[in-house]
Amino acid sequence: MNMITNHLPTAELQALDAAHHMHPFSNQKELADRGARVITRASGVTLTDSEGNEILDAMAGLWCVNIGYGRDELADVAARQMRELPYYNTFFMTTHAPVIALSAKLAELAPGDLNHVFYAGSGSEANDTNIRMVRHYWSAKGKPEKKIIISRQNAYHGSTLGGASLGGMIPMHQQGGLPIPDVHHIPQPNWWAEGGDMSPEEFGLARAQELEKAIEELGEDRVAAFIAEPIQGAGGVIVPPETYFPEIQRICDKYDILLIADEVICGFGRTGNWFGSQTVGWKPHIMTIAKGLSSGYAPIGGSIVCDEVAEVVGATEFNHGYTYSGHPVAAAVALENLRILEEENIIGHVRDVAAPYLKKKWESLTDHPLVGEAKIVGMMGSIALTPNKEARAPFAADAGTVGLICRENCFANNLVMRHVGDRMIISPPLVMQPDEIDTLIERATRALDQTY
Ligand code: PLP
Repeated sequence: MNMITNHLPTAELQALDAAHHMHPFSNQKELADRGARVITRASGVTLTDSEGNEILDAMAGLWCVNIGYGRDELADVAARQMRELPYYNTFFMTTHAPVIALSAKLAELAPGDLNHVFYAGSGSEANDTNIRMVRHYWSAKGKPEKKIIISRQNAYHGSTLGGASLGGMIPMHQQGGLPIPDVHHIPQPNWWAEGGDMSPEEFGLARAQELEKAIEELGEDRVAAFIAEPIQGAGGVIVPPETYFPEIQRICDKYDILLIADEVICGFGRTGNWFGSQTVGWKPHIMTIAKGLSSGYAPIGGSIVCDEVAEVVGATEFNHGYTYSGHPVAAAVALENLRILEEENIIGHVRDVAAPYLKKKWESLTDHPLVGEAKIVGMMGSIALTPNKEARAPFAADAGTVGLICRENCFANNLVMRHVGDRMIISPPLVMQPDEIDTLIERATRALDQTY
C-alpha cells in the first residue's frame, strides 16, 4: 500500500520532493532540474519505480539489504513488537526482551571475546560512541593523554561530526570545519591508483607501515586506537593486498593501541563470513555494526566490544547514550534478520554459490577496453575505469566524470551501480542468484559500451 504514489503522477511527486525534501549527498538544484527517481516497491533484488521500471539493485540499497527485499517475516515481527512494546529506553537500569535476545545473539556470533553491545541508531552514531569509548577507556586506565585515533584517507565512517572526522573524505571535512581534534589520517592501500612500480605485496606492506610511522611520530603514549573498514567500501571498494592486515595487526599489538573494525558494510555476510575482519584475519577490540544487522529494515547500529574494554568502561557510569539505543522494534527486526541469515544459510550461499559465480563474471569485465582492475571479495566489488590499462592511468582532468556517465548509463539500463570517482562499485543483496548475476553483468556491460 502506497497511498501517495497511487494517487499522484510522477512529475508532481518529483516537484514536491525537490521543493521540500533536502536529500543527503545530493545537489538540490540538479534534483529540481531532473527530478528524483521515485521508488515505490521492492522484492528480492529488484526495485520498482513509479513508472513501472524494474531495476536490478546491485547496491542492496546502501550496502544494507543483505537478505533482499520483501521479507514478510520482518514486517510481521515489527508489527507484533509495535503492538506489544513500541518503545522503551535502556537508560537508568531498564531493559526489555528484544534487546536482551539480540545482545546475546551478537555475542554468540562475534568472534573471540567480543561479548558486549552498545547500541545506536546508525553506523555514524556507533562510531561517535567508539570515539568516546576508547578515550574514556584509556583515561580510566590512567592514561588520559592516549586520545588520538588514527584512520585512513578516503575512509568512510559516517556523517556525524565524529564519524566524518574519522572518515578521510576531504570534501566532507571542507564543509563544517572538520576533522575534530586528535584524529589523524594515514594513506589508504589503493594499489591501482597509488602503487606505482611496487608489487601489490610490497605496496601493502609499505602502506601498513605508514601506521607505524604515524604512531612513532605522534607518540605511542598519545595514540588510543586505529580504525579501519576491513574492505574500504564507500571509498571505492579498495581491497588491500594480502600483506596489509597482518602487518597492521602486528603494529597494533606492538604499540598497545585498540583496534576498531568498522564492519558497517563488511559485517553480516558481505565478505563471505559473518564479519569482514574474519575474512582479512584481523582481531579487533571493537566492531562497529549497522546496515546488514537489520538488512536495512529498521535503523539500528552499535558497537560490539571486547571483555576488557567493556569491563573498564563499565566500571563507572559511561555518560553516553541515544534515545533509540536498543530500540525494541529495531532490535526485534534485527534478531529476525539474523535468524533468516543463519537458518537459511545465506552466508553459505554467498561462499559456495553467489560469490564464486559473481567473481568469475565480474573479473571478466576486464576484457572491456574501459576496465582496468576488477576487485571483488564476497559480494562487494569494484572496477577501475581507465583510458590506459597498462599505465593504470586515471582520467586526469575530469576525474569522476566517466564514472558518473557510467552510473547514469547503468540507471538507463535498469541497474543500480554506484560510482566513486572513476571506480564503479557493487554490493548486491547476498541472496542474489546466478541468473540475476547474469542480468547484472549484461546490463553493466551495456552501460560500459555506452560509456566508451
Ligand atoms: N561506516 C561505514 C563503513 C559505512 O559505510 C557507513 C555508511 O555507509 C557508516 C559507517 C555510517 O553508517 P550510517 O549511514 O548508518 O550512519
